[in-house]
This record gives sequence, C-alpha cells and structure tokens, in this order.
Amino acid sequence: MESAASSASRASPRISSAGAIAVRDDVLQRELRIGGIVPFTTTDFPGRLAAVLFVQGCPWRCGYCHNPHLIPAVADTGLREHTWAGVLRWLESRRGLLDGVVFSGGEPTAQRTIGEAVRDVRALGFQVGLHTAGMYPRRLAALLPDLDWVGLDVKAPRAGYEIVTGVAASGMAAFESLDLLRRASVEYEVRTTVHPVLTPPAALQMLARELAARGVARWTLQPFRPIGCEDETVVAAAPRGMAVDAPLLAALGAHIPEIVVR
Ligand code: SF4
Repeated sequence: MESAASSASRASPRISSAGAIAVRDDVLQRELRIGGIVPFTTTDFPGRLAAVLFVQGCPWRCGYCHNPHLIPAVADTGLREHTWAGVLRWLESRRGLLDGVVFSGGEPTAQRTIGEAVRDVRALGFQVGLHTAGMYPRRLAALLPDLDWVGLDVKAPRAGYEIVTGVAASGMAAFESLDLLRRASVEYEVRTTVHPVLTPPAALQMLARELAARGVARWTLQPFRPIGCEDETVVAAAPRGMAVDAPLLAALGAHIPEIVVR
C-alpha cells in the first residue's frame, strides 16, 4: 500500500513556497458530480477520521437502495450538487483535521473522472477510501494503486444478482471486482445487505459458499434498514429492527471464519 506522501509528489495540486497547497485552476475545472457530503465520520473508513463524498449517479436499481436521490446521473431538481472546485477548497480547510476521504454514492466508479479526483484528494495529503458495488472492474483496477481501502458490496450469489440490482448479468462485474481486490494489496471489506426477500437465507448460504471458494475470510452483513428506501414493497417485507438470526449466522459461519453484523 502506497503512502499519501508518495502519491502527493506526483499529483495535481502544487505546493506554494509558503508551504500551503494551492489547487491549480485546471484541477478546479474538473467535473465530478457530488450529490452530498458528510463532513466527519468515524465509521465509513475503518480506523480513520474521514469525510464522505457522495458521488451522484448509479446505473443499478437495487430495491433496498437507501440513497435513491443519488441514482440519477444528474441531481433531481431541487437538490444542489457540489462543484469539484468547491469540494477541493473545502477539503483544503480540513487538512490536519481528517485522516481520509471516502468516495461513496451512488456509484463513484460510474464517473469517468473518478481517477483524477482520487489523485486530487491524495495530493492534499488525505488517505482515500472507496465504497463501490464493483460494477466497473476495469475502472476499479485503474484506481487501486491510489486507494487505501475499499468497501465492496457483494449483493447476492452470482446467479441471482439481478434480483437485487434489477440489471441482468450484474453479478459478473461484481465478482470480477472481488477477484481484483483479492489479488491487490489494498485493504478491503466485503459486505452484503440482508433482506428477507431480496437476499433470503438460501441466497446467503449460496453466497457464503461462493465467497469461501474465493478465499474471503471476513464478511460484513448489514441487516436492511428502511431509512431512505423508497420502495414500499421492500420496506413492508422486512420486519422493523430486523437482525440476522443465530441459526443462519451459524450456517454462514461454517463457510466464512469471521462474520461481522453491523
Ligand atoms: S448500487 Fe448502491 S447506489 Fe446503486 S442502486 Fe444499488 S444500493 Fe443504490
């Protein structure tokens, strides 16, 4: 894993004689649609104090999506996007206060300029994390040298992926991204949202076997929470405060040594 300092030396912003970082005008012109910012989190980038940048746009349509306002490629009328220039200027003011920045979404890898944006952030001295559903493996592969951590959503067993995403063959890309991460040296987490209809116990058991076959030793399960979800059928199908019950956990644990429920 490369250090922030080593990547900063080849990245876009320049360091002025006074030692302060000035962001070049051409960098400030870069386009990256940011639909929201969480200025401070201790939970979205393990072990780091971080900000979260929510990138606008996602081509999938997961029934349980809790950020549906980030799905359109351009923010719906009435929601304000942040310009990349504004985000970088704000991040400059956070230097020394935050360890890292997480790109989340929406789907960050859906935007062609994500690689340059990641390098802009590293150049300001931050570590960089990425939340992704792994739908663009080639773009992910290009990003990996500049990332410190990846949270990869593996949503379902490969054959049943479109039940969750609404997109045919979407599992191929996600599993290709998982294989990339396994071969890379970057830290990563595999996580799956648990919903009684979209990811029922039989699907989770099949997924556990598929992950085990790929050598995944730690798996994070996230019981569905209705906050933000706009699909009433999906919300109605899940009991309030649903959990992963002990027998299912034991069955999944027969395949994966460490399972975290969050
Ligand atoms: S991949 Fe993520 S952002 Fe896209 S629809 Fe699914 S849950 Fe929502």
